[in-house]
Amino acid sequence: MKKGNINVSVDNIFPLIKKFLYSDHEIFLRELISNATDATLKLKHLTSIGEAKVEYGNPIIEVKLDKENKKLHIIDQGIGMTAEEVEKYINEVAFSGAEEFLNKYKDTANDAGIIGHFGLGFYSAFMVAEHVDILTKSYQEGAQAVKWSCDGSPEFTMEEIEKEERGTEIILHIAEDSEEFLEESRIRELLLKYNKFMPIPIKFGTKTETLPLPENAPEDAKPETKEVDNIINNPNPAWTKMPADLTDEDYLNFYRELYPTQLEEPLFWIHLNVDYPFNLTGILFFPRIGNNINLDQDKIQLYQNQVYVTDEVKGIVPDFLMLLRGVIDSPDIPLNVSRSYLQADGAVKKIASYITRKVADKLTSLLKDDREVFENKWNDIKVILEYGVVTDDKFAEKSDKFMLYPTVDDTFYTWSELNDKIKDNQTDKDGNLVILYASDKDSQDAYITTAKEKGYEVLMFDSPISAHFIQKLEQKHDKVQLVRVDADHINNLIKKDEETIARLSDEQKESLKTILENTIDKEKYQVQLEDLSSTDAPFVITQPEFMRRMKDMQQSGGGGMFGMGDFPEMYNLVVNTNSDLATEILEKPEDQKKEVINQALDLARLSQNLLKGKELTDFIKRSFDLLK
Ligand code: ADP
Repeated sequence: MKKGNINVSVDNIFPLIKKFLYSDHEIFLRELISNATDATLKLKHLTSIGEAKVEYGNPIIEVKLDKENKKLHIIDQGIGMTAEEVEKYINEVAFSGAEEFLNKYKDTANDAGIIGHFGLGFYSAFMVAEHVDILTKSYQEGAQAVKWSCDGSPEFTMEEIEKEERGTEIILHIAEDSEEFLEESRIRELLLKYNKFMPIPIKFGTKTETLPLPENAPEDAKPETKEVDNIINNPNPAWTKMPADLTDEDYLNFYRELYPTQLEEPLFWIHLNVDYPFNLTGILFFPRIGNNINLDQDKIQLYQNQVYVTDEVKGIVPDFLMLLRGVIDSPDIPLNVSRSYLQADGAVKKIASYITRKVADKLTSLLKDDREVFENKWNDIKVILEYGVVTDDKFAEKSDKFMLYPTVDDTFYTWSELNDKIKDNQTDKDGNLVILYASDKDSQDAYITTAKEKGYEVLMFDSPISAHFIQKLEQKHDKVQLVRVDADHINNLIKKDEETIARLSDEQKESLKTILENTIDKEKYQVQLEDLSSTDAPFVITQPEFMRRMKDMQQSGGGGMFGMGDFPEMYNLVVNTNSDLATEILEKPEDQKKEVINQALDLARLSQNLLKGKELTDFIKRSFDLLK
């Protein structure tokens, strides 16, 4: 037996390893299985080029628990190592690699970003083990198997051993404070988290398989069973294949495999595949989102050569696509760096803009190729797309090619179709194109009806971020204004050059205004007299666009409006001076004016859905009395 010292320059690195990434100890298993995978793939390569004269066969990696003896084994059938290679790769290369890694990152270890996901390698075993053995035999002809042992001090031993099969077995003697890693369920959980799609089959225990009955079996025959390897991973996941080789069903099956608890099918998907100027493959799924934004559930997963890294993809995936699901696999994403570095990284920026472009292209072709299907999915994806237009200029630039603008009657226009449709009728006297919209069909019905009577189109914007989206549309397009149907009287929403005749004199208007202001709550309603058509409603309550939009934007967050205080609810009471009611108010005896005004105001409030509780009860009672 040979004894030796690992060349340590840091006093004692092992306690450091243990302390380092205290929350991420579990990654040791991924690191060791990655090594086993590399060793197996290296052998595959060597046999394929004729370097290694051995049968490659169908190698697997086995993870074996020995709870009684507090051991965890990771066994591969890869290239193995000779004694010299152990000296070189484990005692020197791996060690100095781990040392360098620690020196570089120990100060930033608490950066909760992606740091630490990769890099520690073999020595991460000491995060959970008090003692590690390596039993290994090289693929080379006549190689002598060796055992390397280290108890976490810089001392190690190495001796020759008998070992039949080529490859490496790592034995972890699990430390007392890490006994969770002796639980079958915990190991299974880790294997499924990190290794579900690794390229070499991974065996964890066995399972019982029921054999099919022979054809001539008697009816009461019991099917035979046999024990087979329990392979926990799928070595050939969909994203590693060519899109042409996959059916819709394959994509859906992969989605279920990725998110076993998701019951709903995705709406559509995008297969990513690029090898220049960076390498990236993956599949992104558009889930059915509607208006429910839940960022925490079943996120996009980031892989590096089929090894799971993280589902914190912020910075790599554009913000607005964080609501998508699926997989991104790239060897080019730097993984052991902090998040702020990641966001400044050139390759990462390119990746984000590539993804944005692919998504925009896919949406464009969906609209072009199958418009009806696309329209049917619109309500389920519009939040993501509106969010994209608001937050991502590149995406916004392309958005006219695929964004749809549904009306309250479910007609879907593209931006240019909408323009063609409304430009004659909805351009105001100053040359602005005025787009009317509603956010709630029921409560804004009266206003929608009035607008439609004028032949105007009313769009439907009802997502939680519509206010931001509308704001963006106005910024993006010159001479375009968006106003909600209840923002003012319809004549004021789209101002045309029309002569209006006033039934009341200026003095009469003045006294009407005084009576109104003395009767209603001035804090809540600002009186606005308008010479409208005599058939227009006498009282209409409106909510000015600007204030309401700011309030909506504030409520849905962002827009730089935090801390500006709450925007007040503001309403106008539009009074039609040409209505019979206006004249009547002027002519009524003093003591009856109030009653008429309050009743008319309540009717107007009712159509804005503003009458509630006791006020509504009183209104109904009063209305019945009037019928007597
Ligand atoms: P890395 O894998 O990043 O090179 P590691 O510290 O994990 O760093 O491993 C160092 C080296 O030890 C590897 O490059 C490889 O040469 C060798 N090694 C580790 N595990 C195995 C294994 N299971 N079979 C063969 N060689 C291995």
